[in-house]
Amino acid sequence: MFKVDPEIFKILKKEIEREKKTINLIPSENFVSKAVLKIVGSVFTNKYAEGYPGKRYYGGCEYVDMVEEIARERACKLFNAEHANVQPHSGSQANMAVYFSTLKPGDKILSMNLTSGGHLTHGAPVNFSGMLYNVVFYNVNRETEMIDYEEVREIAHKERPKMIVCGSSAYSRIIDFSKFHQIAKEVNAYLCADIAHIAGLVIANLHPSPVGHADFVTSTTHKTLRGPRGGLILCKKEFSKKIDSTIFPGIQGGPLVHVIAGKAVAFKEAMKSSFIEYQKQIIKNSKKLCKELSDRGYRIVSGGTDNHLMLIDLTEKKLTGLEAQEALQKVGIIVNKNSIPFDTKPPSITSGIRLGTPAVTTRGMKEKEMEIIAEWIDIALSNTGNEKILKELSKKVRRFAIEFPIYPED
Ligand SMILES: *Cc1c(COP(=O)(O)O)cnc(C)c1O
Repeated sequence: MFKVDPEIFKILKKEIEREKKTINLIPSENFVSKAVLKIVGSVFTNKYAEGYPGKRYYGGCEYVDMVEEIARERACKLFNAEHANVQPHSGSQANMAVYFSTLKPGDKILSMNLTSGGHLTHGAPVNFSGMLYNVVFYNVNRETEMIDYEEVREIAHKERPKMIVCGSSAYSRIIDFSKFHQIAKEVNAYLCADIAHIAGLVIANLHPSPVGHADFVTSTTHKTLRGPRGGLILCKKEFSKKIDSTIFPGIQGGPLVHVIAGKAVAFKEAMKSSFIEYQKQIIKNSKKLCKELSDRGYRIVSGGTDNHLMLIDLTEKKLTGLEAQEALQKVGIIVNKNSIPFDTKPPSITSGIRLGTPAVTTRGMKEKEMEIIAEWIDIALSNTGNEKILKELSKKVRRFAIEFPIYPED
């Protein structure tokens, strides 16, 4: 392979080394299994399969049909859903399909503000969702920094949205989907629950499921679910035709069959008891990391975490999110800067960082390691200007990281 394109394969080697030698605390990332890696890099990438199993626009789809059928069945079984579409290329595409299936341009969406933890596709002005729809937002409560369901209800009654979107990218608390269901019912709105981040926790019953409450459930498959990069839609039977035709031919062409095969493998892995244990450990690690940072004087948004992630407000530490991200990157701890609720700094700077434990938990790290990582985060953030200390620390991080191989069988 190397000979074919040394330029790219050299970079691949570097990425492999980077992943091995750093501590990844980005809550939306994970490491897929060898089986998923293998199938995503398989000959299924060669196949065109526009349409759906049994109704394709190309010949030669007999095996592709089997794969997609299995993926759909497994998704339905895992989430106890009536219908699954496994073709969305990404979480964003999944959300787009739900909106296009139910809304006309100019219709009103009620969703969580980006700075409170919402996602770009929930109506941010720079995203198609914000450009096409009339979006009104709810925020978290200023005091508790948690969702105030009474406030959501008030806004819903006043604004009468056609669609309510719940679910988020940077919210560390349990989301009460039954309350959202109730509110949506009161104002006769569709409810879409976006579980991109928490899908794995939902499967493991460590977070309440929106299935049965929401008309549509969208997700990615590559975050806590630990599958290949991609999207997923679950819906009630009554919406299945509409959702399927919106994905294809509505907004996508040929499905990524190699990725759908990867999703199928990941769904199978998610049916094992070891997956439940994995999800439990993610939360244990998250709570431990949170406590250790809090004990070291870091302000945790909302005061803690119920899930795989936490938001740290660095205002009192006199650091911006960007400065913290850069200092941590220097020592090999990878995080992302993130707006905190009611942030006064722009999204390119931010007042916070977002930390999560899915990736480190996949590597086998437990509470003991979280304590060490919290200590190192504190050292790095207390010495952002001290290159010598950062350099020393980066060596420790590297030695530590390689003790937790991502693919032990290699
Ligand atoms: C990650 C995420 C998405 C989008 O996923 P992509 O695959 O990056 O398009 C959608 N919604 C939420 C809440 C997310 O966190």
